[in-house]
Formats: sequence, C-alpha cells, structure tokens
Amino acid sequence: MTTLSAEARFSLADPAALLRALCEHLAEHHATVSEREGATLIALDASHAVLQVAEGVLSARVEAPDLPGLQAMKLAIASHVIELAPPGSVAGISWEGDGSSPSLLPDFQLLTVTGTELLTPHMRRIRFRGEDLARFDSLEALHVRLIIPPAGLAEPAWPMLGEDGLVSQPPADRRPVVRKYTIREIDVAAGTLAIDFVLHGDAGPGSAFAERAAAGDLIGMAGPGGRGLREAERYLFLADETGLPAVARMLACLPREAQGQAFLEIADAQEEQALDAPAGFVIRWLHRDQAAPGGTPPLLQAFEELDWEQDEPGLYVWAAMEHEAFRQVRAAARQRLRPARDQHLIVSYWRNGLSEEQHTLEKKAAARAA
Ligand SMILES: Cc1cc2nc3c(=O)[nH]c(=O)nc-3n(C[C@H](O)[C@H](O)[C@H](O)COP(=O)(O)OP(=O)(O)OC[C@H]3O[C@@H](n4cnc5c(N)ncnc54)[C@H](O)[C@@H]3O)c2cc1C
Repeated sequence: MTTLSAEARFSLADPAALLRALCEHLAEHHATVSEREGATLIALDASHAVLQVAEGVLSARVEAPDLPGLQAMKLAIASHVIELAPPGSVAGISWEGDGSSPSLLPDFQLLTVTGTELLTPHMRRIRFRGEDLARFDSLEALHVRLIIPPAGLAEPAWPMLGEDGLVSQPPADRRPVVRKYTIREIDVAAGTLAIDFVLHGDAGPGSAFAERAAAGDLIGMAGPGGRGLREAERYLFLADETGLPAVARMLACLPREAQGQAFLEIADAQEEQALDAPAGFVIRWLHRDQAAPGGTPPLLQAFEELDWEQDEPGLYVWAAMEHEAFRQVRAAARQRLRPARDQHLIVSYWRNGLSEEQHTLEKKAAARAA
C-alpha cells in the first residue's frame, strides 16, 4: 500500500508543554496516543503523526494511505498547534512532502441540486447528486455540514486547505456559510441523497438556500457527524420540524419489529407527513396552533404525560428541538431516566432569535462553564 507523508517544524517557546496539550486534546477527539522510541505517535483513523521535541522545535511527520487522510492529519496538527500556542506565536508553517499544493478540505464533497419538492407548506426536500457518498450512509452519523455559497455567484468559491495545512476562506463577498442538516435519504450506488429543509422565512442562509434552490445549483457538504442510535427494547423520539428528518430516517431504518413512540411537534395539521415506521410505533403529531399561548412547550407536555415505569432500563430517548424546549425536556428527562448518558441523546438544534453561529458559540460557552 502506498503511504503518503509530509513534515513540518514548529518553533515554540515550550514545545514539550504544547505536545502534552496536543496529545490530551486529540485523545479527547478519539485519537490514540502512544510513545515509541522517544517519539510520540498520534493515530487517527488510518493516518498517524510522529512528533518529537528538540531544541525549541516540535517536529511532526504525518503519514496516511491517501491524500484526504494526509490532509486531515496535517490540518489536525497545524490547527491545534496554532490553537494551543500563545496567540500570534506561530508563524509561517511550511509542510514539505506529499500534498503540498492547496486543495479542497479533506472531508469536502461537492453536491449538485437535481430537484426539489415541497413536502408541506414549510418543508422542502432538495435532492442532490454527489460522488464518494459511502461514508455518509450510516445511522451512526446522520448529520452533515452544508457549505452554502452566497446567492447569485456565477462560480462558487470553497474553503481550501493551504500549503500551511490550515483552512483558508474565500474573500468575504464570496465566502460560504455553514449550516448543519440531516441526510434524510441516501443511495450510495446511485450517488444521490435528499435533505429536508424547514422554510422558516426569516432569511437565514439555510432556509433562504432551500427557498431558491434549483437544478444545477452547487453546494458543499462536509462530515458526517453526530452520535448514532443505540439498540434498545423501546424508543421514545421527541422532535420539532428540525429533528423530524432524523426521526423519519431512523424510523425507516429501524428493524421492523422495533417498538416505541414518536412525538413530533409541528405548526399545524398541514405540516404532517406520511412516515415509514415499524408497526409497533405510535406516532403522535403535536400541533403548535392548538397549544395554549405561553403554556408548557408541547414536547415537554407530551414527555411529562407519558405513562411509564420510572427508570425503565430498556428505553432509549432521542430528542432534538429548539433550545428552550430542549432545556426543559432535558431537565425532565434527567429526573426520570438513569443519569448515564447512554440512555438518551437530547440536543438543541436551533435557538429562537439566534443564528447557528451564535447558537454554537453559546453552546461552547455553556459547555466550558459546566
Ligand atoms: C445536527 C443538526 C441537524 C439538523 N438537521 C436539520 C434538518 O435536517 N432540517 C432542518 O430544517 N434543520 C435542521 N437543523 C436545524 C438547522 O441547522 C437550524 O434551524 C439552522 O439555524 C438553520 O439555518 P438558517 O440559516 O436557516 O437560519 P440561521 O441563520 O441559523 O438563523 C436565522 C434566524 O432564523 C431562526 N431559525 C433558525 N431555524 C429556525 C426554524 N427551524 N424555525 C424558525 N426559526 C428558525 C433563528 O433563531 C434566527 O433568528 C439541524 C441542526 C442540527 C444541530
């Protein structure tokens, strides 16, 4: 098997401390760290880096079986050295070896819109064609980052991996925005996938893209990400429109003998969709137009009214919704379920009044504070 490789040297005030911090950080992101013959070995997927400290220099040699793997490893090392070193102290990174000219990001996939379909008044399915989709075909990781260029560009521009191993963005007027979405359907052999977009009409770039998308439009896709669905005796799904595509895909893929309930909060009866679910599932649509104004969020109310055994060990709860409802549902779930995180995945998919960038910053700040 061919091995590609590249090397870089980082001049640092305290390279040994930085190497320790780098190892700790990457180990938290599923890298395997070990020591071999006086060097530190960091392995990520099929790629690895060999790091050594000598005379104020941290030297890194990265090796991978293919170019995306090599570029991903260069990015992991270079970006974390910059992040962990004192601000402004690392300049002019230079990699020598394979893959030294600028390239698209290692996990970037170009998608072309092939068609659109209005599923309900506020949900639009967009179909795409793309290459190398195999890694997206898994219930272990349903989510992707869509890289959406500004409207009206004749030639979209994409983020690139520079010669220094770092991401460089196109100029501001051509810079794409990134939004998280869920793959609703995928056919790897045909090279096609579909994503269901909520049309929320307040000019967020994700929703605006879905409104205007037409056959031939290009966007980028990176990922996949997220945690998978655990095997369980019984499932409880709770989602608003943004989590509905994920619930719909999981229901369609679960074994036909699976059992559970799905509570799906939508604006009104017109937003209901036909779902392909195992026969042992009860689906309940919760219409916001029938909820008392200012009352308990419908998903929380549904959760609180559930008649079940306390601490039911065979149950798995998967929930995704707006931030305020998420906070309340998570607090209620933590009281009724075992505290171990392996029995539930409850997440905030968007936050009323905040863009995704602002929402992500708030989530990071909350995680740091916790
Ligand atoms: C892992 C993950 C998977 C997701 N999958 C999907 C999916 O498959 N389909 C999908 O439609 N969404 C999905 N979302 C939610 C989506 O990423 C957010 O709704 C995102 O904010 C939409 O971006 P935007 O550019 O339209 O709006 P932004 O620029 O992020 O926000 C602009 C304004 O619109 C408001 N807003 C954002 N979303 C909504 C909404 N749904 N309803 C009303 N107001 C809103 C914001 O509060 C803000 O005030 C997912 C989110 C995550 C984290």
